[in-house]
Amino acid sequence: MIKFLDLLGQYNQIRGEIDEAIQSVIASSAFIGGEQLRSFEREFAAYCGVEHCVGVANGTDAIEIILEALDLPAGSEVIVPANSFVGSSEPAARSGRRVVFADSTPGTFVLDVEDVRRRITPRTSAIIAVHLYGHPAPMDELLELAHPRGIPVIEDAAQAHGARYRGRSVGSLGRAAAFSFYPGKNLGAYGDGGAITTNDPELAKRCRMIANHGRVAKYDHMFDGRNSRLDNLQAAILRVKLRHLDAWVDARNAVARIYDERLAEVGDLVLPTADPNCRHARHLYVIMTEQRDALAQFLEARGIQTGVHYPTALPKLPAYANLGQQHEPMFANQSDARLLSLPIGEHLQPADVTAVADAIKEFFSRPVGGEGGTAARKNSGRSDTRRAGPASPPS
Ligand SMILES: *Cc1c(COP(=O)(O)O)cnc(C)c1O
Repeated sequence: MIKFLDLLGQYNQIRGEIDEAIQSVIASSAFIGGEQLRSFEREFAAYCGVEHCVGVANGTDAIEIILEALDLPAGSEVIVPANSFVGSSEPAARSGRRVVFADSTPGTFVLDVEDVRRRITPRTSAIIAVHLYGHPAPMDELLELAHPRGIPVIEDAAQAHGARYRGRSVGSLGRAAAFSFYPGKNLGAYGDGGAITTNDPELAKRCRMIANHGRVAKYDHMFDGRNSRLDNLQAAILRVKLRHLDAWVDARNAVARIYDERLAEVGDLVLPTADPNCRHARHLYVIMTEQRDALAQFLEARGIQTGVHYPTALPKLPAYANLGQQHEPMFANQSDARLLSLPIGEHLQPADVTAVADAIKEFFSRPVGGEGGTAARKNSGRSDTRRAGPASPPS
């Protein structure tokens, strides 16, 4: 079995450190707010190269709290990539702003700057730049576009812990950044968690107050905030894992290099590309093929897990039908049925990765009807590719 994600395997590698961290929090009985949280915030800010880090309950809250702290007008427009997790758009929509989806770029899958330019109006109040799959968004170009217009660019770095853009860490590039520590992310907690990073002290202070009932001191509530905190148990776990993050991101990049080499020119595959001036965090390795479902089934039958990120482009979700962007001829709208995420992570040995690549090559070299073509083309969708597999040798 080649797993898509192996959280237990990761725990087993660092079990001693994690167990000790958890024990120390329980022994201190400081569960909410305390030394572990303060230390993590300090260490994560330093890791990202920023002045301030505010722990919050999850990545979605991180974005929503930034939007609230920036006091963006109700009804104003927030530009969000059409290809992302719904956590990128939801905070703008549910806080009474209007989501405007912009297209993503084939290859890197991050925001298409020209499309963003076309969608800016006098009502645009923010741009959510998602570092999707771990590839940094084109921040310099976005900032060049947004800055003269006074539009803040907010990084959604939920998939990009450890990524660097032209020598700088993600989380330090925009007005503020949102991170998620959902367990499956590059830096994952043992539950939900998130953080906001920024160099703006006033913004950091407002975010911290919003996330903690609008207060500075214990019962000194300045306004109605909310309860969205990162707890000490999670902070202690994240401190341990942060020490391993760079090695894990390197391991992800090593996996990606093997896929890049072994899958070049295979079938109709389109491989992801990366800006050479970036360190890609390789949260996901997403390929495209017309035979996505058949390939996924073929791999599953060989014990290889895959994923789809995301099966439905955001404009096509029922939640956003009212925006009327579902039929726009965007790359994001047109590519979702072709996306397939291959296993990637520090849990994979080089032999696992070559086994995945070999299985994919086998899929594309299966003979069909004596033509020697691609078998699965006739078999896409829900058909049973296990039976259409390579059981009979080429004749
Ligand atoms: C995971 C994720 C989020 C949301 O983070 P949660 O911690 O799950 O709330 C937002 N944006 C992107 C791109 C994500 O991958």
